Order: sequence, then structure tokens, then C-alpha cells
Amino acid sequence: AHLGTLPPALGFLAAAHAGGGRAPEGPVATRALRAEIGEALSVQAFSATVLHGPGADPGRAWTRAGDTVVVVAGEFYNQDELRSVLPDGDAHDGDAGLLAALFDRYDLHAFRLVNGRFAAVVASGARLCAATDHAGSVPLYLRPAPGDIHIATEAKALATQAMPKGPSLPGTRRVPGLPGVHQVPAGTVLELAVDSAGGTLHRTWQPPSARRILHEDEARRAVRSALELAVGRRLAAGVKPLAVLSGGIDSSAVAALAAARGPIDSLSMGTDLSDEFPHAQVVAKHLATDHSELVIPMDELLRQLPYTVWAAETLDADIIEYLLPLVSLYRRLPDTPRRILTGYGADIPLAGMHREDRLPQLDSAVAHDMATFDGLNEMSPVLAAVHGHWTSHPYWDRDVLDLLVGLEAGLKRRYGRDKWVLRSAMTDLLPEETVARPKLGVHEGSGVSVAFTRLLSDNGVPDRDIATAKALVVRELFDRTVVDGGHPDHVSTEGAIRTALHRLRQGAA
Ligand code: ATP
Ligand code: MG
Ligand code: MG
Ligand code: MG
Repeated sequence: AHLGTLPPALGFLAAAHAGGGRAPEGPVATRALRAEIGEALSVQAFSATVLHGPGADPGRAWTRAGDTVVVVAGEFYNQDELRSVLPDGDAHDGDAGLLAALFDRYDLHAFRLVNGRFAAVVASGARLCAATDHAGSVPLYLRPAPGDIHIATEAKALATQAMPKGPSLPGTRRVPGLPGVHQVPAGTVLELAVDSAGGTLHRTWQPPSARRILHEDEARRAVRSALELAVGRRLAAGVKPLAVLSGGIDSSAVAALAAARGPIDSLSMGTDLSDEFPHAQVVAKHLATDHSELVIPMDELLRQLPYTVWAAETLDADIIEYLLPLVSLYRRLPDTPRRILTGYGADIPLAGMHREDRLPQLDSAVAHDMATFDGLNEMSPVLAAVHGHWTSHPYWDRDVLDLLVGLEAGLKRRYGRDKWVLRSAMTDLLPEETVARPKLGVHEGSGVSVAFTRLLSDNGVPDRDIATAKALVVRELFDRTVVDGGHPDHVSTEGAIRTALHRLRQGAA
């Protein structure tokens, strides 16, 4: 019951200084109000800007306890569990206060306890700790220099003209085009000494490599109850959630479990070329959701590419194709902040994208995708926060993810059906045709992949160079919106295509 429509903070900018100094100023893609914090600790000065929505209380996003300051963007989902290990657990309503108490008791090990969608910074004594959730679902970046460490939930906020003078941080990822900027890996806490900016990376979560063998009924029940719990934990009392609904099994299952708890809105997007509206309607009708449809003309959709790259801060062109329709949908929502539930990410632990029958290959795909998701920023809250909304992804709840990844491959592909265990966990709540519906990616259902390909073909790109050209366009948009900090209103898809074609012809690929 601690959740509101939005979490107390959607993101933050912060700095730890041996002397004095200020938090970085931005720019950021997150549309938010700003609340400033400045705290003098015994051996460091800590300052932060909390990015928060209207109606959210930014005071709940941070706390000071003794020689420690904690700032949290996002939210925790296992608050009750976390409170139960603290003698005065009930005194902590907000996640920041709870984390401060956990940190006092467990130190860095506190981060091994949290199941959430968050990024956090803890300044304590002479240390600065930067932590991501298990999935790195709220991206976190830092630019360390001795006595001067800058940290932010968006990379673009850390761009600087100055030459980087910080140490390299083993295990972190450098951000291309932004010298000195590192991304904190998923499921880690980076512990730095403020004076030297030297640090150690501690792992707080890893995807399981082992696979569990369960009877069909056991597997079905386990998936159902884990997902039920994950959806329930993401609902806020008195707040009507919005399910982004394609009519595929992943989003339909989330919508069904949310609708079982109370009224929900659902929304489906399509383009003038393609949509999944009839499939979503079947589900909306069955669940009696307040359903709407949104048609975005393909021309307009492709013009949202700069916004998508600006928000996602990723260089992966496939990911940008998945995210483009969603970012465009979020930007078309009314201004009133919404709590949004998605079915995003189910295909990763269940290997839904791979359309693969052979179990060794299927399990290899799961292992590969779980080893390479980090840094793609697929689940970033910024995708919806560009329009002031908050998303949450129940399939990447820590408990759901651990369970799904760890199921033996024969439960994922069974009786000739993909995602069998999920489908069979949902048979009583969804129409048979929804349970049986083959997977269709959002980039396919909306026609985005085909349209982006055609746009490049029309510009003279030969078939064999399409994938390279897409990557170059995304790279160009990344350079303009993230590296140079350009606002996407002033960056055009057409301009990026022209530059990409020029590079392609020069053989710069
Ligand atoms: P499946 O993977 O079986 O097709 P799905 O459509 O729910 O199920 P994806 O295609 O992987 O899942 O899409 C990811 C998520 O993005 C969905 O679960 C849904 O929340 C959202 N989404 C996808 N397509 C649409 C759409 N046309 N309108 C609204 N939301 C969508
Ligand atoms: Mg500074
Ligand atoms: Mg899916
Ligand atoms: Mg789909």
C-alpha cells in the first residue's frame, strides 16, 4: 500500500565531492520537477537533484541518517519482507528510509535483499555506493574523478567538454562518445572512495544457470502464483492502472491478473499499416477493461525515432524498433501521470522470440539473452518518463525472472507450443484463442521493422546493407541526442538517415 501513481523519484542527478560542489544539471529526457538536496557529511559534500512528478513527494526519495545519505529513484516491491528483518521496520514507510536502515544493518549486502525497480546512491562516510536493481532496469551512470564523482540516471546528463581524469572502473561499461562516463552493470553495487574515485564492483544478483525440473502442474502453479504476486505488488491502492495490451499472451496475462484485483484501463496501439486491435479487443472484452485504441500513422511513428534513442540511450537498432511504438504510445497519452503495466520482457526468460523447437538451442538462447541484456536499457523508465508516466514490468520482477529463467527448457517449449508454461498458467483467466495465439513482436504487429526497412530502401540502401544502415541511423541519433545533448524536437530522422548513408558509402560501417 506504499505505492502511489508515480514513485517519489523518476530519476536523479547527484555528486559527491571531497570539497564543495554541485550536482550535474542535465539535460535529461525525463519530464519532471526538480528538488534539490545538499548535505555535508563528515568527509564529503553530497548534493543531488531529485527528478519527480507532480503529486509525488520527493522528500520520500531521500533520507539522511547519521553520516549517510540515501537517494532512491523508482520503487521496491518486497517492502514487507525488508521491514521484517529490521527491529523498527514499521517505522520506515518510504523506500529511501528503509534502504538507509538496511544499509546500517547489512552494509552493501542490503542490495542483495531488495526486489525492486530502482537505482540508488548511498553516500556514507568516505564512500559513495551506486546500485542498480537485479535487472539494471533503471539505468545508472557515473563519471568519477578524484574528489568529484558525478552520477545520474541518464548518461546525457554527464556529458562534459573536459578531458576525463578519472580512473577506469573494471566491470563497468563505458558509454560510447561520452569519455569518462560508465554505466553501472545490472545487479551490482559500485563502491567508490570519494577521494580517489577508485572502486570495487560487487555483484548482488545473477541469472541462474541451473534449471529446475517440475511437474506440469507444479510449474503452472508456480508461474501463476509468482506472476500474480508480481502484478499485485505493482498496483497502488486507489490508482487505476493502465495495461498496454497487444492481445499477445504476455500482456494479456498481466492485464488479466491486474483486472482480477480491480478495474483497469487498457490501451492498444497500431499504425495505418498494421495493428493487433482485434486480438486486444477479445481480451479487453473478456476482462471488461476500459479499453481504447490509438492509431499512429507510420510517417509520424518513424519521426519519433530521435525521441526513442534520446529516452533509451541505447545503440541497439533492434531494441529501438521494439521501443519505438511504445515510446510513441506513451507520448500520446494525456498529461495526467499514469501507472502503466506492460508484458515486456517475458520472451527473454522463455525464449519466445526464437521460435525454436530444439531444447538445447532454446536453452542456449535463454542463457545468451540473459548474459547480454544488460546495457540495452529495454526496460528503462525514461521511455515513459519522457511524458511523465511510470512503467513497471512484472515479468522482470526478481522472483518471476528467477523462476522463469530457471525452468527446464521442456516446460517453455511443450506440445509444439512456445511459452507453454505461461500459457498453461493462464487458461482459466483468458479466452482460449488468446492462450493459443502465436507470438508476434511489437515491431512486427505495428509494422515498424518493415517500414523502417522500406524508408532506407527508398533512400537507396541495398538489401544487404539494411541492418548496417539501421545501426548507423541509431548511432547518429545517439550522437546527436545523447552525446551532443540535442533535443529530439531539433533532431530529424531524415537528417540522421542522410548522415548514415554518407557513412555507409564511405565504408565507415
Ligand atoms: P507476445 O510476445 O506473445 O506477442 P505480447 O504481445 O504481450 O505477447 P510483445 O510482443 O513481446 O508481448 O510486446 C511487449 C509488450 O509491449 C507487450 O507485452 C505489451 O505490454 C506492449 N505492447 C506490444 N504491442 C503493443 C501494442 N500494439 N499496443 C500496446 N502495447 C503493446
Ligand atoms: Mg562537480
Ligand atoms: Mg512478449
Ligand atoms: Mg506481441
